[in-house]
Amino acid sequence: MAGVGKYYDPHGAHKLFKKFNLGIEPMAFKESYPCKLCGSMVTEKTCRHGPDSSLRVSMTQIRKMLVNDARPPEEIMRPDIADLLMKYKSSLNDASK
Ligand SMILES: [Zn+2]
Repeated sequence: MAGVGKYYDPHGAHKLFKKFNLGIEPMAFKESYPCKLCGSMVTEKTCRHGPDSSLRVSMTQIRKMLVNDARPPEEIMRPDIADLLMKYKSSLNDASK
């Protein structure tokens, strides 16, 4: 996702880039997201399951989850990475005491 949540056009950066002729051919990738039915990361080109099967979570939501000691879903973040971040966060809390 190249934008911020649903407030901004997620492909706004791509469109803006195309507006200026920089002599560079940008490679614009569509947003990838985990699909529950495919069981992997997909784009709208590779998956036809529709929005109900996709797990689209913004980085803001993931940060909020980690701050609140909630584990992001496995489809969004590998459990070992989530553990690492949660451990790191609790070490920051301990240091501030
Ligand atoms: Zn799918």
